[in-house]
Amino acid sequence: DINSWLQYAITRYGRGDRLMVVRDVTRMHNLEQMRKDFVANVSHELRTPLTVVVGYLETLLDAEDSINPRWKRALQQMQQQARRMQTLLNDLLLLARLETSDTVDDEKPVAVDLLLLGIRQDAQALSAERNHHISLEASSQLRLRGIEGELRSAFSNLVFNAVKYTPDEGEIQIRWWQDERGAHLSVSDNGVGIAPQHINRLTERFYRVDSSRNSSTGGTGLGLAIVKHVLLRHDGKLEITSTPGKGSTFTCHFPSGRIV
Ligand code: ADP
Repeated sequence: DINSWLQYAITRYGRGDRLMVVRDVTRMHNLEQMRKDFVANVSHELRTPLTVVVGYLETLLDAEDSINPRWKRALQQMQQQARRMQTLLNDLLLLARLETSDTVDDEKPVAVDLLLLGIRQDAQALSAERNHHISLEASSQLRLRGIEGELRSAFSNLVFNAVKYTPDEGEIQIRWWQDERGAHLSVSDNGVGIAPQHINRLTERFYRVDSSRNSSTGGTGLGLAIVKHVLLRHDGKLEITSTPGKGSTFTCHFPSGRIV
């Protein structure tokens, strides 16, 4: 194998000389492609039957007067879990698409301030009874060249996370600004925060700090993986800073070349 060959080459040619290693990665690349295709196909195939299940559950629950309370509770649980599965499949499909397709065609100038306005509205509706205070400071002159739908997914994941991981009455700040280095979007919260040892792994698929806590918040563990891939496709970078018990800030940095 490659390692014993390398060992041999080093003893034979000595460490002082130059050594060139050529490794054929075609097989690895093909396997990775198969994995991506498989995930995308399975997610796609599962979506249709699940839509049927959710549809029938809705019909049954519409007739709630004629069903007994125990059945109703069971149906509601089923509906909740089926919806979770739908979110999971949608996230998996989105991630598969982000990993495989090209961007360039659909890129156009995106008014990020308007995008954020909509996201804030959705987040406020989502957290209606929890009294979060969500402030928004966004430059209306600053547009980003990119794919609007993808940017919306990424930014709303960050804002919804802030809502999910911040206790009632919490403060959430969204900012979108420009400086000499480029354009930046940050989402800060004064919520639960994240311990340092987790920070580097947060953008891995299905990685969650505390899965027991998260099952109640209903996440899929794919949100930050989606954010990372969307940023990659827009030449951007994600920076995460956090203090446990005090709060977190997620900042997306985009290079000046992306500003229009
Ligand atoms: P999830 O669906 O679990 O929210 P994400 O990929 O969006 O998945 O986030 C991964 C993990 O990062 C979450 O499970 C949570 O532990 C942590 N996290 C994300 N955003 C925040 C935040 N604003 N405050 C605290 N922890 C966060």
